[in-house]
Amino acid sequence: MGFPSELALATRNEGKIREILQICADWPVRWAMAREIEGGPEHRAATWPEVQETGQSYLENALLKARAAARGAGVPAVADDSGIEVDALGGEPGPRSARFAGPQATDAQNLRLLIERISDVPDSLRTARYRCVAACAWPGGREVWAEGLCEGRLILEPRGSGGFGYDPIFVPQREPHRTMAELPPEEKNAISHRGGALRSLGERLRADP
Ligand code: IMP
Repeated sequence: MGFPSELALATRNEGKIREILQICADWPVRWAMAREIEGGPEHRAATWPEVQETGQSYLENALLKARAAARGAGVPAVADDSGIEVDALGGEPGPRSARFAGPQATDAQNLRLLIERISDVPDSLRTARYRCVAACAWPGGREVWAEGLCEGRLILEPRGSGGFGYDPIFVPQREPHRTMAELPPEEKNAISHRGGALRSLGERLRADP
């Protein structure tokens, strides 16, 4: 069976859409998107309701989003749920990363709050990781998922303008001299949690019996 011929992309987050379409550029699928993408890949616009991320885990939230999009678009849907886990904060904000500074918080507000919370933590203890679960749900109820991790540490002075979210203070272990926001998109995608999760998911879909 392999890849479905059409997949809905269950996210409205601009940063994620950009990264997912780049990471999955070699997937032989047509995308159904919640909105038109100017100059993007061939896709059709579809609609489905926005989902409240009420799950306690990345997997629960990824599945909630993928199921809603699969129902709305009538084709299998891919969603990711991700977050940053800061060791000095006991793994917070984790699955709440998008809502760290409140339900309607912007990336800039979340980033500012995280810097505030870690400002007294010594450099050597400012370890963190990004985690991502990518899930595919079919309208008939079938579900497949995969996880990706990216280890790193946090700095207090934001650097770089690429990526999104917490990237300006996240220094990945595999690129220890630049923040995630200083990496060109292909370099971020090659080492990121989202890249890892979606490449594994792609292998599963490709090998689908
Ligand atoms: P959600 O998956 O929509 O719940 O949102 C994940 C949140 O985690 C984002 O809004 C960011 O705050 C953070 N996050 C996840 N992945 C990344 C990343 O690649 N860079 C920076 N922040 C990220």
